[in-house]
Amino acid sequence: MLRLHEYTYHRPRTAHEAVELLATHPGRALPIAGGTDLMPNMKHGLFTPEHVVALRQIAELHGIEERDGELVIAAAETLTSVSRHPLVRRHFPSLARAAGLVAGPQLRNMGTIGGNLCLDTRCTYYNQTFFWRDALGFCLKKDGETCHVTKTGRKCVAAHSADTPPVLITLGATVDLLSADGERTVPVEAFFIADGIANTVRGWNEILLRVRIPLAAARFRTSFQKLRQRGAIDFPLLNIAVAADVDAGGVIADVRIVVSALGARPRVITGLEKVARGRALDENTATAIAERAFQQCHPLTNIIVDPDWRRAMVPVYLRKALHEIAAGTPA
Ligand SMILES: Cc1cc2nc3c(=O)[nH]c(=O)nc-3n(C[C@H](O)[C@H](O)[C@H](O)COP(=O)(O)OP(=O)(O)OC[C@H]3O[C@@H](n4cnc5c(N)ncnc54)[C@H](O)[C@@H]3O)c2cc1C
Ligand code: SF4
Repeated sequence: MLRLHEYTYHRPRTAHEAVELLATHPGRALPIAGGTDLMPNMKHGLFTPEHVVALRQIAELHGIEERDGELVIAAAETLTSVSRHPLVRRHFPSLARAAGLVAGPQLRNMGTIGGNLCLDTRCTYYNQTFFWRDALGFCLKKDGETCHVTKTGRKCVAAHSADTPPVLITLGATVDLLSADGERTVPVEAFFIADGIANTVRGWNEILLRVRIPLAAARFRTSFQKLRQRGAIDFPLLNIAVAADVDAGGVIADVRIVVSALGARPRVITGLEKVARGRALDENTATAIAERAFQQCHPLTNIIVDPDWRRAMVPVYLRKALHEIAAGTPA
């Protein structure tokens, strides 16, 4: 049986009360939303906060609405509500699809969009019990000095394994963060950094308030694809989000592609203007785009699934996404 350590559970009524609690217990308090990731991680001894600050009961962290040319999704909205909400489905079907493919129904009913954005990275040598990790001598990310994937003590390459962030990056979304010092806004693309230990720019004293997506991005044709071992429950082995600005004649004006679940942060595929802009979205263009993405993706054995196979699936799943977009049945 995996036991939780003792901690004090706080239920603040407002976001400001929540960040004041974080500031009062520097480095010793963690926010919790649905708890679908934090609770297992606490049971594994990966996090042992003395104070846990609950967010789900805070009214201002709920709601999905159009405001000032943006779709605003508050952080404690569940993945179920994001996947089913009429405004999300109408404007951003790829986000609805990504949220609806996270884990399984029970976890989506508890798990939130804020928790999905702040999800810890994952690795076969990390998401284990204390006993398991102790037997291996721990690792760089937690309690140890070396990385069992890269075999060095310098860098953690645990995988960013959340499904909604790649989509949010293709849509040009931003997040609002609050600390006791005030509020700041960060583009989702800049929110993630290539550090498997702490892979976001969010400070220990900040909570994520909301995600904002420009409604102008609703004109893009979009797709989200996810590779996993089973059709439900499993984390992604690979996920791909595409947003393409395609004119009525089928010519690409712009395309954004983000590939994730391979390294510590979502990878924005670069150089697409050379192979896509001004071209018809046909078989040749799809092949050129898929080849470019393949060249830029280099998964490691951070998950015990053959990295060469995961890499080989990048062009396969990307072509699937582009076919959907070309056929006009995007999500
Ligand atoms: C079996 C299983 C399968 C899963 N499969 C998937 C999957 O396929 N795809 C996927 O993306 N995820 C998956 N998950 C992970 C998880 O369920 C989701 O990512 C979920 O969205 C996490 O949200 P939460 O509210 O439960 O986060 P929590 O567990 O409450 O928190 C996660 C982290 O985010 C922080 N946090 C939460 N909310 C905020 C906030 N508003 N501000 C600041 N920090 C915050 C917490 O401190 C914690 O560090 C899976 C989990 C399990 C157990
Ligand atoms: S990538 Fe290396 S350091 Fe990071 S969790 Fe895995 S084994 Fe640990």
